[in-house]
Amino acid sequence: MGSGQVTERLDWNGKNVTVAGLGVSGIPAARALGALGARVTVVNDGDDERSRAQAAALEAEGITVRLGDGDTLPAGTELIVTTPGWRPDKPLFAAAAEAGVEVWGDVELAWRLRGPGAAPWLAVTGTNGKTTTVRMLASILEAAGLRTAAVGNIGVSLLDAVLGEQEYDVLAVELSSYQLHWAPSVRVHSAAVLNLAPDHLDWHGSMEAYAADKGRIYEGNRVACVYNTADKATEDLVREADVEEGCRAIGFTLGTPGPSELGVVEGLLVDRAFAPNRQKNAQELAEVSDVQPPAPHNVANALAAAALARAFGVDARAVRDGLKAFRPDPHRIEPVEEVGGVTYVDDSKATNTHAAEASLAAYDPIVWIAGGLAKGATFDELVQKSAKRLRGAVLIGADRALIREALARHAPEVPVVDLDRTDTGAMSEAVREAARLARPGDTVLLAPACASMDMFTNYNTRGEAFADAVRALAATGDA
Ligand code: ADP
Repeated sequence: MGSGQVTERLDWNGKNVTVAGLGVSGIPAARALGALGARVTVVNDGDDERSRAQAAALEAEGITVRLGDGDTLPAGTELIVTTPGWRPDKPLFAAAAEAGVEVWGDVELAWRLRGPGAAPWLAVTGTNGKTTTVRMLASILEAAGLRTAAVGNIGVSLLDAVLGEQEYDVLAVELSSYQLHWAPSVRVHSAAVLNLAPDHLDWHGSMEAYAADKGRIYEGNRVACVYNTADKATEDLVREADVEEGCRAIGFTLGTPGPSELGVVEGLLVDRAFAPNRQKNAQELAEVSDVQPPAPHNVANALAAAALARAFGVDARAVRDGLKAFRPDPHRIEPVEEVGGVTYVDDSKATNTHAAEASLAAYDPIVWIAGGLAKGATFDELVQKSAKRLRGAVLIGADRALIREALARHAPEVPVVDLDRTDTGAMSEAVREAARLARPGDTVLLAPACASMDMFTNYNTRGEAFADAVRALAATGDA
């Protein structure tokens, strides 16, 4: 097992740093930099009540805050630390480029602030499955007796993990494409790209730019670049990456693995990458039924997590124990209840078509509840691929007409209920309609393929509304 590389220590005393954006990552970054002695100015587009309260708290700590103008580069700025969500085409960054000022995201900052002997990172990105895979990985590392945490968008923030009191042997790190865009010098122990489907293209500008940002996760890898054999784009990224001498490309597959791959043979997850005598033999890691839930895409997530853990030297036993101990987060293919022989499953987190496609592939026949904000997506391919499994569809939300039209084009025989309401009772009606369409043995699947914000605060509240309606149906026969 390797120890972390230590990057050059910077002298922050008196350095003029501009933090771009108040918020989840901006506020802790400003505080951390202030504590190191930097002169910090936070710039923020918004000037509402909430940001004024946040600004007042920071100003009391000696941090300057400019509200209502996130685009003027403060004079004397030597470095920008940006909220990862800020688009690269924002005028602030054009001004920074012109002035020769470097821009780091929250991940780059955490990387640069790591102490000597810091824990190495095992990193995961991809369009879908990041959180699940990182949590599976942390569970496996824990089962191996290592001091670890799942960090990134989940659990502990990277900055806290790097600067906090707690010591770690290794970190399981989730990295989004935005974060990778702003993380030029991060070099991890090993990394996985789970899959690549068009998402956030408005932010990145093109599919090529999106893929290039995801591909940065492999740059400088020391031990393994883990890719998905079913997704050639991920393999291409490995090929293009400039890695350290001796770093290996490791594939994961739902089929029988070749050498340097992990895969599935007769209901078992097996390793032909790190196993002894791997040219001839595969080593058993776990049973497919140890993966929760054992849907195909989730088995792929488990294989990616296992590959990273094995690259770090974890033994097969810990892979099995860690996968068995893992429990998925809510609203990710979560079985809610069986009512009248019909299983109700909440995959509210399927907020894009690629995610919905994966969960639709895991059941048959399905009554599909879908719709919401499409974010520019089209639904033809999703409907074409899933049509033969659909018993019926119930459509909700602002962009439901797009799904209805795709169903009319590619699955005209599938009965569709189109719900023209967005009030709080809409989900109950959707569940009632789905129950009407379903037959015993079917699955009613909430996999909206859309964002939730037209009707709900977020995907959590959408999933809860679904689960509440299902439980009401179970209790009274009426959602
Ligand atoms: P992320 O952190 O990338 O958003 P999550 O682990 O939270 O990913 O899963 C989000 C949704 O994506 C899940 O609800 C599921 O529908 C889908 N999903 C999970 N893993 C995969 C995968 N490997 N391929 C395709 N879709 C997936």
